[in-house]
This record gives sequence, C-alpha cells and structure tokens, in this order.
Amino acid sequence: MASFWTKRRQLHAEVDSYMDAILNPVDDDCGIIDIQPVGDDCSTVDIQCNTSCDLSSLMSVNFQCDQETDCGEVRPPCMSTKITTDETMSVAEPVGELESDISLNYSDNDFDEIASLEDEISCWATEHRISQTAVGGLLKILHKWFPHFPLDSRTLQHTVTDVVTKETAKGSYYHYGLERGIQDELCRLSAGNGSDSVAVQFNIDGLPLYKSSSAQFWPILGAVVNCCEFSAAKDCSDPFLVGLYFGYSKPSDVNEFLSDFVSELSLLQKCGVNYCGKQYRLQVHSFCCDMPARAFIKCVTGHSGYGGCDKCEQHGKYVKCVTFPDSHARLRTDESFAAMTDVRHHSKDYVSPLMSLPKPVGMVSQFPIDYMHLVCLGVTRKLVSLWLHGPLKTRLGRQSVERINERLISLKQHVPCEFQRKPRSLSEYERWKATEYRQMLLYTGPLALSGILPTALYDNFMLLSVAIRMFLSPDICHDMCDYGHGLLLLFVEHFGQLYGADKISYNVHGLVHLGDEVKRFGQLDSVSSFPYENYLGKIKRLLKKPNSPLQQIVRRLSEQSTKCAKVEVSCVKQEHSEGPLHDCITSQCEYQYKELVHGRLHIKLTSPGDRFVLLKDTSIVSVENIVRTTSGSIGLLCRQFRVVQDFFSYPLPSREIGIFRLGDLGKKLTFHSLSEVVQKVVVLPQKHEYVCIPLIHTRQ
Ligand SMILES: [Zn+2]
Repeated sequence: MASFWTKRRQLHAEVDSYMDAILNPVDDDCGIIDIQPVGDDCSTVDIQCNTSCDLSSLMSVNFQCDQETDCGEVRPPCMSTKITTDETMSVAEPVGELESDISLNYSDNDFDEIASLEDEISCWATEHRISQTAVGGLLKILHKWFPHFPLDSRTLQHTVTDVVTKETAKGSYYHYGLERGIQDELCRLSAGNGSDSVAVQFNIDGLPLYKSSSAQFWPILGAVVNCCEFSAAKDCSDPFLVGLYFGYSKPSDVNEFLSDFVSELSLLQKCGVNYCGKQYRLQVHSFCCDMPARAFIKCVTGHSGYGGCDKCEQHGKYVKCVTFPDSHARLRTDESFAAMTDVRHHSKDYVSPLMSLPKPVGMVSQFPIDYMHLVCLGVTRKLVSLWLHGPLKTRLGRQSVERINERLISLKQHVPCEFQRKPRSLSEYERWKATEYRQMLLYTGPLALSGILPTALYDNFMLLSVAIRMFLSPDICHDMCDYGHGLLLLFVEHFGQLYGADKISYNVHGLVHLGDEVKRFGQLDSVSSFPYENYLGKIKRLLKKPNSPLQQIVRRLSEQSTKCAKVEVSCVKQEHSEGPLHDCITSQCEYQYKELVHGRLHIKLTSPGDRFVLLKDTSIVSVENIVRTTSGSIGLLCRQFRVVQDFFSYPLPSREIGIFRLGDLGKKLTFHSLSEVVQKVVVLPQKHEYVCIPLIHTRQ
C-alpha cells in the first residue's frame, strides 16, 4: 500500500497532467477537451470548461460523487472527472504558483476518497471471492487511468505474505492475537469514548474440513459483547479470530493448544487493551461452546460419563446409556470446581490452563450451556428422531408423517426473509441445520404438528417450545424465567414418562439448567453459538484448495479489512407508483416503495411472508404500501387483521406470549409511522385462518 505522501505525489502528477491540458487546450465549440488518460488507451476523460469561471474554481479540484442513493451509500469517485473552469482564467499564470495553490486547496478528503475506491474494490474482491488473477487483471486496467493504483492484488488487499505458524499439540497453530482482534472490532464499530472496559465472549469448537478426510480446524474466536457501550450503530459484535489450530484430530494437549491464548489473555488482564491511546480493562464475559468442547477446555468428564453434567453433581445412572434422571441435584459452583470436590468430574491428567489466569475464569458460571447445541441440535432433533424411528408407542405412522411434511412444505412461501432456510420435510431431518430445528421448535412445529401428533406428545413438545420462546424473548425472559424453568422441569418429567427413562440423556437433562443461564446472562441468544457457527461456515468457504489450509485462511482473513464493515442503515428500495394510497396521505405522499429496512425491521411487499407487523396498540397489520411523505418521513399504509383469539391454551393461553389466531384482513387502510411498529411477526396460514407468531429478534 502506498504511503499517504506517495499517493499525494501521484495525485499531484495526475492533477498536473490535467492542468497542462487545460492550460494548453485544444479548444472546440462546446468547450469539452478530450484528454487521454495517464498511460495510454483510447478511452477519454472529459474535462468540462464553462465559459465563465475564474482560476480559484480550478484550484479546488473535487472528485464529485454523482449522487447519494436512498440507502445513503456514497458512490465511488467518478471515472470521468469533470473540472469546471471560467473563460476569465489567466492562462499566463506560472505553473509553479498553480502547484502551490493546488496543494493548499487539495483537501485530505480528496485523498481519502481515492483511497476509499481502493478499499471498495478490495472489499468487493473479498466479498465475491474474486481470484487474485482476476483482481490483478482489473488493477492493470485501473492502473492506466489511476497510476497510483497498485498492480498487485496482494498489495491492494493487504494480503499477509509471511504466515508464521508453530507446531503444537500434534498440529499447527497460528495466533492472530486477542488484542489485535479487539482493536479491529472496535475500529469496525467506529468506537468512540464509551465504557472503560471491553467484555469479550469466546468460542472454541472443532470444524471438520472435508467429508473424505479427518482434517479439521479448531478456531479460537472472540466477540465484543458490550458493543452498545461503544457504538449506537451496533448492539452486537461480529466474531473475530484469535487463534487457529489445524490438525487431523482434536488438539492432543489442551495446555499446548491454549498456550498462546492464555499467555496473551493473562497479559491483557494485567495491562488492559490499548485502543487509540487508551487502555481498556478486559473482562472475560463467557466461553460459549458445545459440551464436548467445554469438557476439553475445562478438563472434565465428557457428557457420556457418570459425572458428565457440568452444572450439577448428580452421579449419572446407567440405563442402556448414562442418563441423568435427577432434575434437582446439588449445583456445582465455581468454588467447588476450583476445590475439585467432585473427583469423578475432573480429569486425572490435566488441569485447565484457564485456572492459572491472574483473574481466574468462573469454570462453572462462565461456561454457559449453549442452546443451539443442547436444544436445537440436541433435544429437538431427538424428538423428531423419536417420532420417526423411536419406540412403537410414540412412533408416527407413514400417513401422519406425510401430512406433517405437506404442511411444512406449504409454509415455505410464508416464511420471512430472516430465516436462512425454508421448511423441509421431516424425512430430511438428519441433514437439517440448527436453524431449521429452531424454526421447527418456535414457528412451524406448533402448526404443522397440531392435530396429527398425539395430544400427549404435542403437549410435551409445546412445553419445550413455549419455554424456549420465553427464554429467547428479551422483553419477557427475566419476568418469565421461573415460569419457563417450571415448564422445562415438567417437560423433562413428561419426556421420561412418554419416551422412557433411558432417553433422559445429558441434552434432555441440561434443559433444567437453562433458567440459571437466563438469570445470569439474559436471553439465551446472548450465549449461543449461532453467530460463531455462521462465522465458522465463512472460514470454511474461504478455502480454495486442499494444501496449506492454515496459511490460506490467515491470508484470506488478512484481506478482510476493517473497512469492509457494513453499517446497517435505514433505507427504502423499489420505488413504484401502484398504490394503494389513502385519502389522508395522497396529497402528502411523495414516493412509494416496495421494500424497507429500518434497524432490525425488514419489510418486503413482494414477499408474502415479509409484510406483517405488530403495532404498539397491539393490532396486527399487513403492510400494503410504504410511502415517503413530503416532509421526508417514512410511513406505512396498513390493513388490520380482524379477529384475534388464542391459538393454543396449553401450557398457557398463547396470547400471553404474543401468539394469536387471526381472522380476515379488514379493507380499511390506515397510516402508521415507523415509531408505532413494535416488531415483525410471522403469519402462517392454517385452514381458513392465520396464526401470528412474533419474530424473535426483530423488536424495535
Ligand atoms: Zn445437571
């Protein structure tokens, strides 16, 4: 990357060439002078000469942006740079003085804009996984027009060329750095002065790379969890890489694997994190991992062992496999863990290196249960498996399964864009992702299973569905925590009665500890693996060839500049003039749109699943049009659903958690400002009616 001063010299040369052409014009009638780009080529740059301007306007060379889009995105500097001049311009002015004046008038913003074009191309190449060869070809073309552009894609994308890894724990390891990751993230958040401390959550998990090989990564990831104290624009941080292990099995020694991480964490706990000249205290928020990874890092018995529950001290009972039937056993504490009072729980060979930190991590309290693994991939998957392949008394018949599949498929088009995947048939459950199990548990399952799954099994499923919905809803998770805990105790008890005591494995038992996690950390998504799982998927997709995977990932991640961060903005898209409009708004309506993004709210009139919202007056409406008024404010024209009643009554009236059965849509159009919107809702058809389910995480 060229230095600021190098760029400045290059830009001066570029401006000089333009000046030379202006001062020695090949004039024509319309005042347009064609100038060959620096270098060669047959393309031209138009420099517009008006018939009346003075030298001062020439001296202020601005790279104008064409316009701002509705999204507030600023377009890159124009390829055809127009410089307006005046006929009174004195062509006899000495060039030296011009240079001097230009240097005075050429603002730093101009350099920043040109540099931002490089950044945008770099981000584009990274985002679309453009090959280095293709980027190099593009740079050759750009270089003809802008000589300051680098010719090598590695220079443009800041690719790390020297990746130093170390051999450890029977694999290789690269330590990117915890402080560096936090600094990048604070930069990405444009963090100003906020909190004096940075709270960081960590995630450690294995990532198999290929189906045909045991090659795997073990990334150490971090995320800043107190973002809102630094930046109003974001309330959650993206994960970042702290260290990356590659091998053909799990790291053989946890102390070796975590050596660099623990050393740096120890240093940062003592000295703090430096960002923009200020020292921030580092707080370890939590370690968010699945049970096998927790057992590995904490050096304790795995979940299939008798002392396998890392939250309570019960000795597992063997019934075909190790089960945990006691929902009220004595809880483990950080102190009892440190004192190793339960010898069955701890490894005989290793002690976790995290216990040697200057500020020790709470080895019980700061290792929350991750609901993505426990509930979605654990219990919900187990339920589906039992309905399809379990004991005959709880197994569904072929026709019942087909009816459920038909219902799931019919809901496809009504699922909002926030869902990464559309509903699939139960027959494919073994290939379902965690998000699909979450969708089944919270949204599609209560409808698709209703009236087909035997009542006892359905009621048992609803205990889990309602309790997890309560624990995931930021607005009710604290108030309903004890109630939700009671529902899960009941679920586990009924589950044992329905499916057999031998089925109360660690995952099912672990549900009784989720209430404590909500009390400690708030809604379950604050300690879930979902964001890390997405990040791991991105890491995997960065691999382009099988050799040197560790080096490849480090190089590709180094290209993902902090400038690639996308700040979510409010915007409207797809202008139209099709209506409908209402009398009360017609005269004030300036533009109409089909799509709106406003914070977490995303409305698309073109999609049947993306137009329903809950308003502050508790009405549920369908958005029929998005309008911008002459005063510039955005509003919604809506129709309201008429009949509202409970969808289910067990384990509680569904309206208490915002789930309703709806009737027809009224015909009357009403106008509402965005401030009246509480959240988006999922509206799914059922027979001749609709069921409304709040979309968790879209609350304004
Ligand atoms: Zn337990």
